[in-house]
Order: sequence, then structure tokens, then C-alpha cells
Amino acid sequence: MPDLALVIRDISEEMAQRPDRGAVADYIPELAGIDPNQFGIAVIDGEGQVFTGGDSETPFSIQSVSKVFTLTLALGMVGDRLWRRVGREPSGNPFNSIVQLERERGVPRNPFINAGAIAVTDLILSGHEPREALGEILRFLQFLAQDPTIAIDERVAASEKRTGFRNTALANYMKSFGVIENPVDYTLGVYFHHCAIAMNCRQLATAGRFLAHNGRNPATGHSVVSAERARRINAIMLTCGHYDGSGEFAYRVGLPGKSGVGGGILAVAPGKASIAVWAPGLDTAGNSHLGRVALEQLTQRMGWSVFGV
Ligand code: GLU
Repeated sequence: MPDLALVIRDISEEMAQRPDRGAVADYIPELAGIDPNQFGIAVIDGEGQVFTGGDSETPFSIQSVSKVFTLTLALGMVGDRLWRRVGREPSGNPFNSIVQLERERGVPRNPFINAGAIAVTDLILSGHEPREALGEILRFLQFLAQDPTIAIDERVAASEKRTGFRNTALANYMKSFGVIENPVDYTLGVYFHHCAIAMNCRQLATAGRFLAHNGRNPATGHSVVSAERARRINAIMLTCGHYDGSGEFAYRVGLPGKSGVGGGILAVAPGKASIAVWAPGLDTAGNSHLGRVALEQLTQRMGWSVFGV
């Protein structure tokens, strides 16, 4: 078995120096000023040993990685009824695409494209005030990461709200089909805020541990979801977690993973480890470029791909 600490050191050193860094997301003005020269990684193995490298303690905007946790929370609240509102097929389209929604009568392809995640947020919101729903999501992340200091970056949330024209269009379009129940402003307010939660790699890898261990956090013994549900969430991460780059991610990395336009990726090596990487520069599909490269090296060297060594 290769030495994980050494592998992470090698990867962190290489990623700090590589010239191909991708481009930071600039459609959310607050993210446009992030320094692309940063790179962080945290890996937590089955015994709870934490291995970190680079800027693993620097908080970043988790953006769409939050969709894994809102999906988990919504499934806990409404169970399989969720699948009446959202599909679970890869979209093969960009994360903020509108075309597919029209063809499919307002029902989003999966819970990880923006339209699907907005519909999931709307389910969590139903029967609650926006503040309560947001509090629920934030507390869930704090509980999973065992860290009550995790917070929302209000400037990022406000910045996205000011320029969230596409997401507003998606939400209004779904509302016209009855897929969104609450006032569009409320649903989007909660959505923008949960995307604006700031975490570092270590916190994110801790929060993802239940997905690597059959729904249970081995550190606390708490069962977060059933083993069956964890397996299914992982399946959706594998097929839909990187938008229209999901096939490439499966091909190169071979793990369930979810990316965000802040440059973070949460990846799950079932039975082995929970992994978070962060590099703010994105590829053309909106996924962290060096994050993917780092994960490809990690899975190859450790033999962790779910498809074999
Ligand atoms: N808050 C972002 C948006 O809705 C999330 C996109 C992403 O991280 O991929 O545009």
C-alpha cells in the first residue's frame, strides 16, 4: 500500500507549481477576485486519520458542493417523494442550462444541476420560514463537520443574488410548471445562501465521511442515512456530480464526486476515504481543473478508483 502522506505531499507540491490553473468563476463577482494560485487537499481514512496538504485550512465558497448535503437533508425530510420533483439522470448540459427544462416540462434532470438543486431547496423550505430552512442546512453541515464555526459568507450570497439572473429565470420557469411551491425569491434566497457557505478542505472531508462509510460517521458512530441511501447518493454524485464533465471525471478519477464553482470538490472512496480538494481555477465545464488533476493522481497512486486499480 503506497504511503498516503507521501502521495499527498507529492501532489500538493506539484499542484502549487503547475502553470495550468484554469480560470476562476467570474459570473459571481465576489468569486472573481480569488487568487488562483491556491491549492488545498484533505483526506480522511477509515480510521479517522487526517492527511492534509497545501491550503487545506483556508475557507472557500463551497457553492454546488452544498447540493450533496441539501439532497441528503431533503431525502431525510420527504424520502423518495423527492424523485417526483427531480430526475436522476445525467444532463449532458451546462450547470445553468435552460433548454432541457423546457423540453422536460419544468422537471430538472437531476438534483445537482442548478435547476434541480433549486427544486430540492424549495422542498426543504416548504412549511418553514427561509431563515429556519437555512439554519437547518447550516446546522446539518456543522453537525457533519463537527464544527460549529462553519458560517455563510454573506458577501458571496449578496454578490450572487445581485447577478443571479439565470438562476432566477430557471426558478421562475419551474414555478410556471408548479415544480416550485414557495415564492421564487424565498427559494432563491435560501439557495444562494447555502451555496455561499464557506468551509476548508478538512471540514469538507469530515462532513463527507458518512458517504464513504455506509451512511455512518465512524468518528461518532452516528448513522446519518441508511447504507442504501448513502450508496444511492454516491451513485448520483458519480453520474451527475460534474455537470457535463461527469463522464470525464468518472474516466479519469473513478470516484463519486461533487464540484462547485468555488473550485472545491468532495470525492468519496467508498470504504476507504473521504477527500476534499480545492483549487479555484475552473475548466470549461465549470469544474476545478487542478482539483480534478490532483484527484486523478491520488486515485491512481492509491488504487482507489471504484472501477478497479
Ligand atoms: N451558486 C452557483 C450557481 O448557482 C453554483 C454553481 C456551481 O457551483 O456549480 O450558479
